[in-house]
Amino acid sequence: MCGYKYKHLATRSQDALVGKILSQLQWIKQKFSTFDYSIVKIFTSGSFFDPNEVPLRARTEIGKQFKGKLVIVETRPEYVNKIDLDGFIDEIDDGNWNTPLYVAMGLETTNDGIRNKSINKGFSYIDFVKAATEVHESHAGVKTYLLMKPLFLTESESIDDMNASIEECTHLSDIISMNLCTVQKGTLLEKYWRRMAYRPPYLWSVLSVLRSAKQYILCDPVGGGSLRGPHNCGKCDPDIVRGIRDYSLTKDKTLLDTLFECDCQCKREWQWVVANEMPYCMPFTR
Ligand SMILES: [Zn+2]
Repeated sequence: MCGYKYKHLATRSQDALVGKILSQLQWIKQKFSTFDYSIVKIFTSGSFFDPNEVPLRARTEIGKQFKGKLVIVETRPEYVNKIDLDGFIDEIDDGNWNTPLYVAMGLETTNDGIRNKSINKGFSYIDFVKAATEVHESHAGVKTYLLMKPLFLTESESIDDMNASIEECTHLSDIISMNLCTVQKGTLLEKYWRRMAYRPPYLWSVLSVLRSAKQYILCDPVGGGSLRGPHNCGKCDPDIVRGIRDYSLTKDKTLLDTLFECDCQCKREWQWVVANEMPYCMPFTR
């Protein structure tokens, strides 16, 4: 479902990679004074701690430039180890923040079957648990990404999956961010979507998950209201998308309740889908 495979660099040369990263650091230096910002999110869409993706030399420079900032990086769990974490924290930490580093990992779901069959992610929940434990041992924070409604799940299965995942990963996560599946160009997901075999989640489902979570969940409904993104009927979408964004900024749950109580025609359609949509599973074994 991820379209980034078409957007990566053609080169795998370490020098070229380091050069690209250093030039981005230089660009930031030119555009911003270091007093302009206090938090930096490094968006690799991959693994910050994978030395083939972010070579050590570049990582060290990033650490130097952002000393004193709160830094959020993302990585797959297999690249998490205490030595690298401690080394990077040493670079950025000047005592300004209790938790100067947050490590974001795309767990997507706590259900190994769904992560394996629907997402093909290549690691298990236990790998995430080990990595999250290691992150906490380095006194860094864990940001967990979940993915709502990957391929092959019905609307109600996707709601149940997110409710269960939020509950199960809470004790290991300092921040939970729920991403909503979108249909990106050139992906397998798009192929199924074109054949009417996939529909992105209803915004009603998103509201229902955010409302029933006991804790605050970050959620930015990217592509919300479009056919390729999470959507309802088209009429009620803009208000709900705006409301979910406002909730993410304010943590005000009454916003979600008010939106959920709105009575758009499509709410009955959604309720019918949740109650009646059937899974068409593939067999688990041969
Ligand atoms: Zn509607």
